[in-house]
Amino acid sequence: MSMKISVVGTGYLGVTHAACMAELGFEVIGVDVDPAKIEALSAGLLPFHEPGLPELLRKHVASGRLRFTTDYEQVSSWADVHFIGVGTPQRADGHGADMRYVDAAVAELATRIRGKALIVGKSTVPVGTARRLRTLIAANAHPDAEITLAWNPEFLREGFAVADTMTPDRLVLGVEDETSEALLRGIYASALAAATPLIVTDFETAELVKVAANAFLATKISFINSFAEITETIGGDITVLADALGHDARIGRKFLNAGVGFGGGCLPKDIRALQARTSELGLTHTMGFLAEVDEINLRRRERVVRLAHTMLNEKLVGARIAVLGVTFKPDSDDVRDSPALDIAVRLFNAGAEVLVYDPKGNKNAAERFPRLHYAKDLPEAVAQADLVLLLTEWAEFRALVPADLEPLVAERRIIDGRNVLSRGQWEAAGWEIVGMGQHHAP
Ligand code: NAD
Repeated sequence: MSMKISVVGTGYLGVTHAACMAELGFEVIGVDVDPAKIEALSAGLLPFHEPGLPELLRKHVASGRLRFTTDYEQVSSWADVHFIGVGTPQRADGHGADMRYVDAAVAELATRIRGKALIVGKSTVPVGTARRLRTLIAANAHPDAEITLAWNPEFLREGFAVADTMTPDRLVLGVEDETSEALLRGIYASALAAATPLIVTDFETAELVKVAANAFLATKISFINSFAEITETIGGDITVLADALGHDARIGRKFLNAGVGFGGGCLPKDIRALQARTSELGLTHTMGFLAEVDEINLRRRERVVRLAHTMLNEKLVGARIAVLGVTFKPDSDDVRDSPALDIAVRLFNAGAEVLVYDPKGNKNAAERFPRLHYAKDLPEAVAQADLVLLLTEWAEFRALVPADLEPLVAERRIIDGRNVLSRGQWEAAGWEIVGMGQHHAP
């Protein structure tokens, strides 16, 4: 199918989508308001870390099938389909989603489009947004334009973004007319041919599927972490508990790892936005449990900080602490609302000397918190450390054995914030090692 596609917003979601659309054979232009980002992307350079994406980007920038611009004029009447992938961060003044970017992007297109075009929302939005945007489009559209709207939420995971886009678990299309559905079926023909489950539904359901999925995942993590609070108090093995629970196919083992909690640019802001939206709808109690989910999650960070104090015999001021991992998860350079970075900053503010090392996240973390010390590699971070913290489970850290650190550290103390190290092995080597969910008697 020959189709011209624009992708508005070229962040994690947008660039991935644009490059994958080019890989599927479409002509694609990515649009962003950030000229530096557009300049880098036009040169085939990805401004963030995502496995497999740099290759796709280079390939299709070189082939000419994938271009980037800051100029809406260039795409508005050129593309048949416009995907909206701009940010929907938490508002500065509350828990709701900041819809300025989505509204601006849709208005920019609506005023410029002539003839037929389909606008497809991919950003994660409060339920009711698509219906509201339809009114916004009608108010801004030129008389010669025939614009339809669809909602196609995005489920990609950072670190697996390309695979998740090329072979998604499912496709959800919120559509209100057959032509839009047919266009989207055409765009996703190869995934559909591979028997990807397709859910065609209304706007509200499509919007809700995404926030419901994130609310469920966040709840699952906080659920196991609430049990971690119990085993931390009275004893028990949280990993064995999770394994035993996970064997029940109705529960499943994924997202049941006790640890420092969730973060990133999606789960925290999405559960807050969902609470804010349901309150707006008059459903003040409906999502009340998500406030608990959020609180349990934030308590994990306090737990690690408290543990650091105890393990250092309350002599944290001036202690040298190595923080391994600062991104919110491995295989990503994203530090948005990262528990690891938050813990590093809290320890620094409490007076510790903090040395951070992350395989990909140092640069982004340093932009946010330049006062922490960022080490170029693991040996520099752990040199003369009084305490080591493993906070993001990069493969490089999962593979650590005591002998890797022993010649370097000042003291054999480690907090395993992701329960990925073999406790017996470290204890046998004379380390004080404390994991999440582990009872620790100082
Ligand atoms: P991001 O911050 O990386 O990218 C957003 C981009 O939009 C930025 O480059 C910004 O400059 C651009 N932008 C803002 N206003 C614009 C405008 N008016 N016109 C053109 N561009 C504009 O964000 P992201 O992580 O890619 O997330 C985007 C959306 O996708 C959010 O709603 C998020 O919740 C959702 N989402 C993200 C992921 C993920 O893993 N990152 C997964 C699924 C869904």
